[in-house]
Amino acid sequence: MIEKIQMVDLHSQYLRLKPEIDQAMQAVIDSTAFINGPQVKTFATQLSEYLSVPHLIPCGNGTDALQIALMALDLKPGDEVIVPAFTYIAAVEVIALLGLTPVLVDVYAETFNLNEALIEQAITERTRAIIVVHLFGQCVAMEPILKLAKKYRLYVVEDNAQSIGATCQTTGETVKNAGTIGHIGTTSFFPSKPLACYGDGGAMMTSDPVLAGKMQKMANHGQEQGRKYHHQLVGCNSRLDTLQAAILLVKLKYLDEFTAHRQAVAQRYDEGLRHLPFLSLPAKAPHSTHVYHQYTLRVAEGKRDELKRWLQENGIPSMVYYPFTVQEQQAFKMLARIPQPIPVATSLCRSVLSIPIHTEMTPDETDYIIETICRYA
Ligand SMILES: *Cc1c(COP(=O)(O)O)cnc(C)c1O
Repeated sequence: MIEKIQMVDLHSQYLRLKPEIDQAMQAVIDSTAFINGPQVKTFATQLSEYLSVPHLIPCGNGTDALQIALMALDLKPGDEVIVPAFTYIAAVEVIALLGLTPVLVDVYAETFNLNEALIEQAITERTRAIIVVHLFGQCVAMEPILKLAKKYRLYVVEDNAQSIGATCQTTGETVKNAGTIGHIGTTSFFPSKPLACYGDGGAMMTSDPVLAGKMQKMANHGQEQGRKYHHQLVGCNSRLDTLQAAILLVKLKYLDEFTAHRQAVAQRYDEGLRHLPFLSLPAKAPHSTHVYHQYTLRVAEGKRDELKRWLQENGIPSMVYYPFTVQEQQAFKMLARIPQPIPVATSLCRSVLSIPIHTEMTPDETDYIIETICRYA
């Protein structure tokens, strides 16, 4: 019999890792080093090694990571930052909070990722940076974006909250880890993300020692390292707490296995759903691997909400990531600049449907979901 199907099954995953997780948490509690305990540094070192990036600075969450990244770039109010029109709101929000102008650029329908061919027309004299969001588990095409950045002297920030573990072909045959390709990469350890803790957490990564030093200070009240009460920069207070770091140290060991499991579920979906004319399956970009943070379908015009209801009636949850473009959000309507129409983003909001995919999914559950979708047809 199939247990209640979930979008993400955090409880079963915990039960599988329970002895290790419980021990790691107990050790932190016994030490009472709740803030800046040794596990925070160990985790930062291990994740930087895993990603082959020289500097990795943990922080409080993925949104803070984006904010600290932008603060470190010394942008001035009114400067423009290019972002995808179809995305989670965090990147746009921090742009606006810092008095910068978000400039929305359309995405590809097939991969949901930023359409690099539309970026150049959006660049003005005020453009200073591009925030790329590696959405749903695969990378934006970084090579053309790096070229543009060089040509127009722009910073590139990668929001890698959803694609940690993915790799991307950059220049020629060079393959790099998502989040380590632009000037700064950011990520989130929110419980449902590919690398996740049991609360909030995030990190910034970079190869640039100057940016790394600045972000390290900015995340800690702008304080000079090792010199308490010497505040060099205006910063904020954004920390990964020790309990979360201890949990992440356990989970990092399983990251590749977790990724492989989601990839296997995705392949089963691909095979089982390929023939359905009312669905478009998520496309794999040639330059990137896909870690399937989400498995997102595009459903034929007008059928999405009906399919969602049908799944629900059959005990299958599904989610609309994301129901609105940035431009449709009340907070950003007047703030964002939209140099060209964004028809793809707009149409995706009406057609996307993400179905369950997680580290504990069984072939039976996957087959039941496939069969239920086929019965809808
Ligand atoms: C989850 C997410 C964030 C924000 O991370 P938090 O840790 O919740 O602040 C930012 N960007 C993307 C693309 C995300 O998916």
